Amino acid sequence: MDNLRLSRFAGTLSQSYIRYMTRECEKAGGINLSQGVCDLHTPETVVETAKTAIDAGFNTYTRCSGIQELREAIAKKAGTFNNIDCNADNVVVTAGATGAFYAAAMALLDPEDEVIVFEPYYGYHVNMLNALGVKMKFYRLHPSEWSFSIAELEKLVTPRTRGILINTPGNPSGKVFSLAELKELAGLANSRNLIVFTDEIYEYFVYSGKKHISPASLPELKDRTVTVSGYSKTFSITGWRIGYCICPEAWAEAASCVGDIVYVCAPSPLQLGVASGIKLLEPEYYGELCNSLQHRRDKLCSALEHAGMLPYIPDGAYYVLAATSSIPGEKSPEKAMYVLEKAGVASVPGCAFYHDKDGDNLLRFCFARNDEIIAEACKRLVSIR
Ligand code: GLN
Repeated sequence: MDNLRLSRFAGTLSQSYIRYMTRECEKAGGINLSQGVCDLHTPETVVETAKTAIDAGFNTYTRCSGIQELREAIAKKAGTFNNIDCNADNVVVTAGATGAFYAAAMALLDPEDEVIVFEPYYGYHVNMLNALGVKMKFYRLHPSEWSFSIAELEKLVTPRTRGILINTPGNPSGKVFSLAELKELAGLANSRNLIVFTDEIYEYFVYSGKKHISPASLPELKDRTVTVSGYSKTFSITGWRIGYCICPEAWAEAASCVGDIVYVCAPSPLQLGVASGIKLLEPEYYGELCNSLQHRRDKLCSALEHAGMLPYIPDGAYYVLAATSSIPGEKSPEKAMYVLEKAGVASVPGCAFYHDKDGDNLLRFCFARNDEIIAEACKRLVSIR
């Protein structure tokens, strides 16, 4: 046995298609609509408070669950915006929402436990569960509504099933789970005693009159739900890595111990910056951000149609999946490369969001880019027809 080999897990990992296409895009000098990088405006108070904190020497570790001021601000916002009944002791501040999911999953799940995952899925969720040795049962949502049948879903539950993973608004589908759907899932979670993991990082980006509903706001789910979110997308600070999870206190304590051993704490001055944003920004900030993204969604979807693709109009988040029968290439990576070479626009191959071949006719485009970039990308996409 080669002692210098990679671990079994690392041996299965390769660079994600999101990163691969970003690199290919840089090489080609294209417009990057692959990685979900939001280049919109970061609120001034968030930036200024963080800078002041650095200058004032607020640069050492914080407690592993995060500073009190930020945990209180998050708990208050969870009460008013998400309708989740909680306090600061239920909140753990983490290194991004990715860190929150990892900390919570590691705190609650054992190898060989099973979790039900909807697909199309966000690859990081799946890779992380894989890293923990957790087995997944995939449920394929039916386009274009990305609907599910609770009877079909229930068939995936086995004696080993510990949880179900929801992502609302969803990446990459843009699905926003309705109250009726969440009630069905709550029935299943209660009858089969399941943990609900819910990633709501796109909670402020919901379009066409739809409403974001947090599963933990349903009284019957409150004590079995881990709500994961963060401010990367809302404040356009994807590189700051400030996320959090909200869950029952005993789980929060365990998750913060996991966070401690993996990364000790989230960046101190940046926690203060985010706290000031949560406390000072008015509802108009979130409303305007959402409107401007809806406008970009509409522009990009219409350009995709003109380019001969078939966009599934998303109700939330900031990605659009498009069916690409008209684009040459057998599989989605070839199709993505064709669009990059022909139009100079990078997207993510649909296979990145499915465990089998199902995504091969899909491409994902991100519309969280500024107006100028979206306009240029649209012009280029239309030209490939
Ligand atoms: N969440 C973003 C996406 O889906 C960014 C992921 C990443 O680059 N790690 O594109």
